[in-house]
Amino acid sequence: MLWCVVLSKRSGKPRRLALSAACKINLVLEVLGRRDDGYHEIATVMQAVDLSDRLVLEDANVLELRTTASDVPTDGTNLALKAALTLREMAGVSRGARITLDKRIPVAAGLGGGSTDAAAVLVGLNRVWGLGWSTARLADAAVKLGMDVPFFLHGGAALATGRGDRLAPLTCSALSLVLVNPGVAASTAEIYGGVVATMYSDGARAQGMATALRSRQPGRVAASLGNTLERVASARYRVVEQMEAALLAAGALGAAMSGSGLTVFGIARSYDHARQIRARVTRARWGCWAVRALRGPAIRMR
Ligand code: ATP
Repeated sequence: MLWCVVLSKRSGKPRRLALSAACKINLVLEVLGRRDDGYHEIATVMQAVDLSDRLVLEDANVLELRTTASDVPTDGTNLALKAALTLREMAGVSRGARITLDKRIPVAAGLGGGSTDAAAVLVGLNRVWGLGWSTARLADAAVKLGMDVPFFLHGGAALATGRGDRLAPLTCSALSLVLVNPGVAASTAEIYGGVVATMYSDGARAQGMATALRSRQPGRVAASLGNTLERVASARYRVVEQMEAALLAAGALGAAMSGSGLTVFGIARSYDHARQIRARVTRARWGCWAVRALRGPAIRMR
């Protein structure tokens, strides 16, 4: 792994930091009910996987963001820049940073791309600005940016409950998967807006997935998949069923949609098997990746 940290001669703090920020899938996502604050109560098993954005953070007088992607904003609504602004305000410092974001994770795809970028900026600027914050303190900033952001500070696999912000780490298996994205974005609000009370469940499926992960058998993980939001998404976007059918026909042990979609993933027996499935599924408009589950951190120095 290339260690790309340039240290300031005076302080020993890195002046330039290159990071990778992995995405997540939801192996199970259950909606348990609706809360008084308007959020849904959920139980979800999140797993970090190695499809990653790349960020470079440089100490600067200004605070600005540049990105390779045409479909993400570059102003204060970008979660990476928002993370820097939030950290600066919470830490009470008047520091700047030049953030370069190379987007590789599809946008608005149920993979938490914006959230992992935000987590990477919190972890990175904590070092560049020499704040010395603990992960627990960074998590207070993370939850202000989005319910998925605290997960990316830890990575691996976790059971998330409440609004998705209460995390319990889970045993990770050495899973290999195939991600398929249709190149059509879905809004999280639209998909959650289609959930009705008859779709509510009790969290047992998420518990079942925690047990399946402990077994370290891809077949048991595949048999325990489930996502309540998939019923909403597939009724509106026929491509969700088409992508799943293609994954299963190509040999995936099981398939499901991630988060609020529309990315779907298939479980493979091994990484070689994942690459075979990926080669068989590829369609002109679909993005397709063979990936590995990450057992360690989602945010890494490169
Ligand atoms: P979630 O389920 O948390 O909404 P997602 O993976 O479905 O996540 P993202 O890729 O995070 O979706 O994008 C959601 C929205 O956030 C998009 O409308 C996008 O324009 C906006 N956004 C802001 N900052 C970023 C970023 N750094 N990367 C991707 N999208 C971003």
